[in-house]
Amino acid sequence: MTNRPELPPEIARRRTFAIISHPDAGKTTLTEKFLLYGGAIQMAGQVRAKGEARRTRSDFMQMEKDRGISVSASAMSFDFGKYRYNLVDTPGHSDFSEDTYRTLTAVDAAVMVIDGAKGVESQTQKLFEVCRLRDLPILTFCNKMDRESRDTFEIIDEIQENLAIDVTPASWPIGVGREFIGCYDILRDRLELMDRADRNKIAESIEFNGIDDPKLAEHVPAHLLEKFLEEIEMAKELLPTLDPASVLNGSMTPIWFGSAMNSFGVKELMDGLATYGPEPQVQSAEPRNIAPEESKVAGFVFKVQANMDPKHRDRVAFVRLASGHFERGMKLTHVRSKKQMAITNPVLFLASDRELAEEAWAGDIIGIPNHGQLRIGDTLTEGEAIRVTGIPSFAPELLQSCRAGDPMKAKHLEKALMQFAEEGAAKVFKPTFGSGFIVGVVGALQFEVLASRIELEYGLPVRFEGSQFTSARWVAGEKDAVDKFVAANKQHIATDNDGDTVFLTRLQWDIDRVVRDYPDVKLTATKEMM
Ligand code: GDP
Repeated sequence: MTNRPELPPEIARRRTFAIISHPDAGKTTLTEKFLLYGGAIQMAGQVRAKGEARRTRSDFMQMEKDRGISVSASAMSFDFGKYRYNLVDTPGHSDFSEDTYRTLTAVDAAVMVIDGAKGVESQTQKLFEVCRLRDLPILTFCNKMDRESRDTFEIIDEIQENLAIDVTPASWPIGVGREFIGCYDILRDRLELMDRADRNKIAESIEFNGIDDPKLAEHVPAHLLEKFLEEIEMAKELLPTLDPASVLNGSMTPIWFGSAMNSFGVKELMDGLATYGPEPQVQSAEPRNIAPEESKVAGFVFKVQANMDPKHRDRVAFVRLASGHFERGMKLTHVRSKKQMAITNPVLFLASDRELAEEAWAGDIIGIPNHGQLRIGDTLTEGEAIRVTGIPSFAPELLQSCRAGDPMKAKHLEKALMQFAEEGAAKVFKPTFGSGFIVGVVGALQFEVLASRIELEYGLPVRFEGSQFTSARWVAGEKDAVDKFVAANKQHIATDNDGDTVFLTRLQWDIDRVVRDYPDVKLTATKEMM
């Protein structure tokens, strides 16, 4: 990734990012503090309270509340300094990784939050690898430094080793646990002191002439200062210094130390994202890529959320603008159907609440309420037939058959399942043989979510049952070869929710057999949404 000096200022000031972390590392707390600094709300505690109130109000997902997991991603925008931040929330639970993957196609950078006592945990590692696939720039925040944490070198080593990325300290913690007093801001030669008494206060910051400044001793107790100076000497010798180009190409991550709960280190992280984080980037598309500075508007749907408000049965398509300056009321071409859509009530997700968007720029996320025309992967343009690429659909790892509790309601069930398929919440397969549907998901929890949503939103009790099949592959190849293959394997053939042919498998052996017996047919585990 590179920043483009020619970007219009409104676009150049945008930072669109996601937070990746293991549950409990502090993502929610950090988000609250971002919003606190962003001036979006008065008191940081309100995000959670507000989020809960909104969910109860919309009664959107009882499960989300019951289990305390965030099932669906949302987007939030806020200003800080000269910059406009768009934070796209990723679902934290590992069962929703496909959703997470697509969310990461809509951002230009990720903030990786780790717990200072725990280091790199499994979910962080998985999410990091997804970011790596796209060479996303990553900024690291080592949280909970107010508690006993690991040795600073050990934390940095662990990230370097486990994630194979260069780590450069942007700040350095002074003291550990109860003795933690703050950080030295290496990039700006400042000492940031943490105030434990007031968690919503912006930390005190004192400027120095480098680490040799004798004034440091006035603020740092002697035994901590000695250790700090020793460590910083070692760090200089052993660790790379910050190289902006390496941060942008994803091969180096700067790390800040702090305590989200105490609002400490958060501002430095935001400044870091502004200074070293990427501007809105070029979007890959066919037949040509889309550059953010193009005057015409283009954008793509990376998420669809249905029934955010059950009274309206609406769906909101989350659209990342890839280029141009969008204004409310604009007519955009829906490339897949070649139809025009007047975007009259787009929503901007300001931290306070949903709000009508009068305008938006490349890099922003807007919500477009619609009745199902907009699907994941769809491109909107001012007329040109461009299609954004790189938004994948994964073969599900778990399959179950699904039946309506009342057999007379099979048609209703089909409608409900198709809706969830379009939302990206599940894959729905209609086998050539037999009745009923086979539903595929990436994580087991999704079956429960689906069952409870179908009951809640459609009043349809459903049963999910084990299926003889365990996985599915899309079938590709010359028509003759595919037809022959399909005719000879009818028991395994189904069509997916887009009408594409899939091969349902029981064992790896099934796939090996096809590879051996049908060299002209290709089975794939991913397909591009279009
Ligand atoms: P998430 O699951 O990643 O969203 O994590 P949360 O933000 O909900 O935080 C998990 C727990 O860690 C909560 O009990 C927080 O109060 C706590 N926590 C978050 N940040 C800090 C911090 O800087 N210091 C301490 N001691 N606890 C924190």
